Amino acid sequence: MPDLNNKTADTELPPDYHIHTPLCKHATGTPADYRAAARSVRMGELCFTDHAPDPSGYDLKHRMTILQFPSYVLMVRSIQDGGSPRVLLGIEADYYPGAEPFLRDWLPHQPFDVVLGSVHYINDWGFDNPDNLYVWDSVDVKGVWRQYFSLVRSLVELRLFDVITHFDLPKKFGHRIRDTDLKEMVQPLLDRIAKAGMAIEINTSGWRRKVAEAYPSPLILNLMRERGIPITFGSDAHAPEDVGYAFDKAVALAREAGYGHFRRYCARQSSLCPLPA
Ligand code: ZN
Ligand code: FE
Ligand code: FE
Ligand code: ZN
Repeated sequence: MPDLNNKTADTELPPDYHIHTPLCKHATGTPADYRAAARSVRMGELCFTDHAPDPSGYDLKHRMTILQFPSYVLMVRSIQDGGSPRVLLGIEADYYPGAEPFLRDWLPHQPFDVVLGSVHYINDWGFDNPDNLYVWDSVDVKGVWRQYFSLVRSLVELRLFDVITHFDLPKKFGHRIRDTDLKEMVQPLLDRIAKAGMAIEINTSGWRRKVAEAYPSPLILNLMRERGIPITFGSDAHAPEDVGYAFDKAVALAREAGYGHFRRYCARQSSLCPLPA
C-alpha cells in the first residue's frame, strides 16, 4: 500500500515537454544526461522537442538538417527502454510565412508524440536572439507585439501543432506593453486557440531571462483558464541541469490561475492529469 502520509514519496513533477539536444548546435548534454536529470528531480516523463529541420535553410544556425533528423529519432529511441522516466519524442517547429508547404508535407508523417509550435522571427528579424537585441531600439514595441500575435494566429490556423510554446516571447528582454493592449491583442487569439483544441505551455525559461517571468504571464494564464485552454510544462532545457527548472513554481502559478490539471500527450493524442499536490 502506498504511504499516503509521505508526501515526497508520491509528489512527482509534471512532465517536461520542452527539451533540446546538441543537434540544434546550441545545447549541451546527451539525451541520456537529460533523462538522468529528470530522474533526479522525480519526474515521471520527459519529451525531447528539438528545433525542427527546415530544408529551405531557414535559421540553419540553430537547428539540425533534414539529413540529421533520422539520427535525432534514433537518439531518442535509444533511451526509450520502457523504464522510468518515460521518454517521448517531440519537436519544436517554427512557423513563419512560407513554412507552410514543408510543414504540411512533413510534420503529420513523423512519429511524434507532441508538436510544439513557435514563432521566433518577424520577417527576417530573430527578435528573441540576443545578437539582434539592438533592433528593438528602432522598432515600435507595440507594433512588434501585434505582428508577433498575428503570426501566432497563422500558426494556430494551420492546425499542425499541439502546443504553443513561449506564448508571449516578445517580453523576453523586458519589452512589455500595457495590460489593456495585451488583452485586446490576445483575447481573440485565445478564442481561436481554444476552438482549435490546442494547449499552451508554461515555459519556465522566462524565469532565467531578463524578464524574470514565465511564459505566459499570469494575466494571460487567467484568460486561458477562462477559456478552458489546457496547459503543459516546459523548461526549454538546453542543458541537462535545466530539466524541470522551477516546475514547483510553475505548478503553483497554474494553481493560482485556477488550473487543476495539465495535459499529456502520446502519439499526438492528449489526456488530462491532475496537477501534483
Ligand atoms: Zn534552442
Ligand atoms: Fe523556441
Ligand atoms: Fe525550445
Ligand atoms: Zn524554445
